[in-house]
Amino acid sequence: MSLWLSGIGVSRGIGIGRVQRLHGGDLEIPEYTLQPADIEHEVTRFFGAQRRAKEQLRQIRGQIPGGAPGEIAAFIDTHLLMLDDRSLTEAVVALIRSAQCNAEAALKKQRDALTAVFEQMEDPYLRSRKDDVQHVSARILRILLKQEKGMPVQRTEQSEPPVIVADDVTPADIILLSQQGVAAFITEYGGPLSHTAILARSFGIPTIVGLHNARRLLREGELVIVDGDLGHALADPDAQAQEFFQAKRQRQLADRAALSQLRDKPAISRDGIKIKLLANIEMSEDAVHAADLGAEGVGLYRTEFLYMNRRGLPDEEEQYQAYSRVVAAVKGPITIRTLDLGADKQVDSGSRQGPTPNNPALGLRAIRLCLKEPELFRTQVRALLRASAHGAMQIMLPMISSVQEFRQAQQIIVAATEQLRAEGRTVADNIPVGAMIEVPAAALAAPLLARHARFFSIGTNDLIQYTLAIDRVDEEVNYLYDPLHPAVLRLIRMTIEAGEQSGVPVAMCGEMAGDPRHTRLLLGLGLTEFSMHPASVLEVKRIIMESNVAELRRQAQRVLAARGMREFQDLVAGFGH
Ligand code: PEP
Ligand code: MG
Repeated sequence: MSLWLSGIGVSRGIGIGRVQRLHGGDLEIPEYTLQPADIEHEVTRFFGAQRRAKEQLRQIRGQIPGGAPGEIAAFIDTHLLMLDDRSLTEAVVALIRSAQCNAEAALKKQRDALTAVFEQMEDPYLRSRKDDVQHVSARILRILLKQEKGMPVQRTEQSEPPVIVADDVTPADIILLSQQGVAAFITEYGGPLSHTAILARSFGIPTIVGLHNARRLLREGELVIVDGDLGHALADPDAQAQEFFQAKRQRQLADRAALSQLRDKPAISRDGIKIKLLANIEMSEDAVHAADLGAEGVGLYRTEFLYMNRRGLPDEEEQYQAYSRVVAAVKGPITIRTLDLGADKQVDSGSRQGPTPNNPALGLRAIRLCLKEPELFRTQVRALLRASAHGAMQIMLPMISSVQEFRQAQQIIVAATEQLRAEGRTVADNIPVGAMIEVPAAALAAPLLARHARFFSIGTNDLIQYTLAIDRVDEEVNYLYDPLHPAVLRLIRMTIEAGEQSGVPVAMCGEMAGDPRHTRLLLGLGLTEFSMHPASVLEVKRIIMESNVAELRRQAQRVLAARGMREFQDLVAGFGH
């Protein structure tokens, strides 16, 4: 009998295959007290398992297919680093010695303690990092318990790709499994920000996470259809359902193939308006991937990731190397954003001493933190300026809320340029310095800012948060997060208009720019530069190529002039049609 199950769809597409359950069940962890004479032997056994886990991960890292997005290797590196992290290994060894307990029990105890710390974190991204602690611990535990066969193994026979059903799938599992061919993933745990979800999206494998009891409800070998768009799984489907989903799958595959034809075509609307499509990236490796997916350059390189997952701050030389790599890797222009730390983006070493702010999103974050800690800012600016010698770079300042703030940052950049040149170093001439427009004050004062900034980039993720007064990471008020709110659309238009009147180019790099549902409306508001997750570039390009921008601009004027909310909503809902 057919059975519908639902979870959270985190990677789109339809997958059809037979269930293969991974990890026969949760690990049974024995606990026993050691004889004093056995303690050092137990410590050695633990280190042996840790070493073997590292070997396994290095081997898997070596199997990452060429051309795979950089984030894939980075996730394995995160696990390798964690295997060496003192908070994991030293604590386990200390527990074995002090509590005289076996290695498995000590590791379980430390895993649970670390997981509890991550669970307390406010930031959903950091909270979901507890998965990494669990994945790494499970790998060592399986080695200690000699249960490695619970891990995915290379399939030898050429069978149909299965639907993997598991409590959770680690990044390493995904790499191994995706090479063998997988129709879809269903996991009991995890959320849209988990590494499993991010990697599944990178590999284009339909995936549902958070489907509780999946391993109990789905039988080994049973046929199952996974709809990653809707987060539904249909077990034991009848012939009619199979036909329906096969057809949907074929349509999606044909659509993807048609999209890939657009890769090298310019994004020009039907009425001849050229639109720039750029990528948002976090690591230098992403730059290559972005170009493969049709992006013309990089509109936002978030530099925070250089500062994360480490002790201490990266020095000028390390940053210079990293920025030079990115600048050299990007074909086309690259906009690098200076450090945007604070609020939802925390690092161990960047946090200041002092009382915890009540409203971190309104506190000392981004450019405010950089101006308060000039050394932190100067080090990054010097590294950026030195890297400017290797390609076309723009510098973008986040969370600008006043002209004075922009000017102050600009002066630091000018002074650093002079100093570097005095030291005999090469710095490109005339590097454009621009402002992110992500605070309503900046949008409202855009005509004044335009006298100083060489470009604007609208950060809708924050602009929406600050305009509608809703914390972007607070799940309780998520339902109010509305990119189509009239206030948001007006601020976007105001910014674009200020740019048009003063000859300052305006881009958008918030999530809204990569959401195909909003492409026509943004074209209508006059946007000509979109920067987004590389995976969305082709879909957005197709819409642009089918659009008549002049007509969309007329429609957008009507939206902005709407006198009542009903009229506004009707116009927005029917936009572009
Ligand atoms: C934004 O706020 O829209 C943006 C692009 O920056 P981030 O999401 O990194 O804050
Ligand atoms: Mg932002």
